[in-house]
Amino acid sequence: MRVAEALVLARELGVARLDAQLLLGHHLQRPRSWLIAHDDATLDADAVAAVEADLRRRAAGVPLAYLVGEREFHGLALRVTPAVLVPRPETELLVDWALQRLDALAPGLAATVVDLGTGSGAVALAVKQARPAARVTATDAQPAALELARDNAHRLGLALEFVAGDWWQPLTGRRFDLAVSNPPYVAGDDPHLQALAHEPRSALTPEGDGLAALRRLIASAPQHLNPGAWLLLEHGHDQADAVRRLFIERGFQPALTRRDLAGIERCTGARWPGEPL
Ligand code: GLN
Repeated sequence: MRVAEALVLARELGVARLDAQLLLGHHLQRPRSWLIAHDDATLDADAVAAVEADLRRRAAGVPLAYLVGEREFHGLALRVTPAVLVPRPETELLVDWALQRLDALAPGLAATVVDLGTGSGAVALAVKQARPAARVTATDAQPAALELARDNAHRLGLALEFVAGDWWQPLTGRRFDLAVSNPPYVAGDDPHLQALAHEPRSALTPEGDGLAALRRLIASAPQHLNPGAWLLLEHGHDQADAVRRLFIERGFQPALTRRDLAGIERCTGARWPGEPL
């Protein structure tokens, strides 16, 4: 089979041409630019078998990131496995907001940052990469996710603290200058979940109305934030009002929402004004 024939097969299976090229490039260990210039190159039998199998998996909805084992996020090449959510471009908004909050803190402060439910480590690692002076902690309740995040940190040469446990629960007695989280927020009966069936369900939905994890993050945050610290949360397209309300009811002020590149209200953050509880 030649490169051009593999691309025809991909089209017949309904796999997007770009995805097919990235899969071919992965198995042939060549950049996409090489494939474009060598569409008459012949694949050996092993490569044919591997490419065909992956094209069929892709056609069945397996995310490309799982097939190539990698996803770029905020300039970092992250390893990704089915143990974690595939990092999404809209989550880069959460990172950019976190970096702006860090820059607003007192210069010279080695700010403490926590990423709750870090998954692949995407948000925590992007923050640490961009602001090396920050002391970044990453938590996850899933051992396989934490192991992958640790591996990503090691590969990228970024020093993070990793803590196993649910949301704030393993951080008793600890306070931070900034907290971020991209928790599961899809409602349990959202038909959209079907298209995401290859990703860990626990990373996508807390079941019910989709707000349970966001509620827990906000409810316990005051015990873990220094006065003036912000908690920044990613959420679903129709949850911004509810999240702002939860923040205000808990005593945060102000609570602000930012839109993603698609114009969707995607992240809400709020400032904890209080004295330490
Ligand atoms: N943004 C993801 C999606 O709907 C969900 C991510 C999440 O639950 N944190 O595809």
